[in-house]
Amino acid sequence: MAKDIGKLIYKKIKKYDKIVIARHVGPDPDAIASQIALRDSILFTFPEKKVVAIGAGVTKFKYFGLLDKLENKDFTDALLIILDVPTLDRVDGIEDLAYKEVIKIDHHPCDSKIADLEIVDDTASSACQLVAEFIFKTNLKMNVKIASNLFLGIVSDSDRFLLSYTTAKTFQIVSKLIDDYQLDFAPLYTNLYERPINEIRFHGYLAEHLTLTENGFAYVKITPEILKEYEVDHGTPSNMINDFNYIKEVLAWVFVTYDEKSELYKVNIRSRGPIINETAEKYHGGGHKFASGARCKKEEIDALLEDLDKVCKDYKESQM
Ligand code: AMP
Repeated sequence: MAKDIGKLIYKKIKKYDKIVIARHVGPDPDAIASQIALRDSILFTFPEKKVVAIGAGVTKFKYFGLLDKLENKDFTDALLIILDVPTLDRVDGIEDLAYKEVIKIDHHPCDSKIADLEIVDDTASSACQLVAEFIFKTNLKMNVKIASNLFLGIVSDSDRFLLSYTTAKTFQIVSKLIDDYQLDFAPLYTNLYERPINEIRFHGYLAEHLTLTENGFAYVKITPEILKEYEVDHGTPSNMINDFNYIKEVLAWVFVTYDEKSELYKVNIRSRGPIINETAEKYHGGGHKFASGARCKKEEIDALLEDLDKVCKDYKESQM
């Protein structure tokens, strides 16, 4: 991260009395942890400011801290900071917000500049890594709770340091978080990884029903009836998609889950070789080269699966 951009963003934070911190729809631990950590760090440093972290709450992530309810009328002329999201259309909860300037801190690839100031680094493991680095490089303060949240966001988004976005810098930042705040990190894993037995059984269902093509492409379509049978919700498959990494025969894999609320199909896509985000973008989605997602209509699903199978086939041939 360039030192200057960090300084400029810090200056903006110092200048504004009202700051709104938002992240993407359908948040994961990295999105929630980064916004709560940054909010708490700004409030810890500048207790007189009004700083809120917004977006739909997720019960199972309450251990990071609570989100705020936004009174729009109180937040005109605010500074908006968006985290872990490349474009404004995927930001949760800013529809009626009359903000003045936007800052973005993100690790998704994005070709165009969309904010007044941006830290965009698609080689970073997580938004939490970038927020931690930003806090360390400025006069913002941290405490044990903030450091713990940033640690868990990094662990979660790097899939326990397994994914290739994990770099020496990731370990340097994690090491500093642990060292500076004496983090007793092993007990923190319970919050991230403890699961009820019905979810483990659902995990078994997914493994059992994975369809595998000759090109090394695997997928499973998950109906509302199956979600009901295993007493899990439509967000549960998203928490399990990374568990299907390192299957010898599988290069890329997909879960397709019907979401009754939006009446769309949520698609989780992962890869350990073929580049998948370009295909996701064709189907109103996006993400990283090896971890992407999309939301599709029913009639688009089979075409998306066929396209991804072709991507695997081409990749396999290119490796021969
Ligand atoms: P997920 O499978 O939901 O964990 O998403 C993996 C990655 O793809 C994340 O970086 C998301 O931000 C991105 N992503 C998921 N769904 C979409 C979407 N509908 N549009 C753009 N990016 C998405």
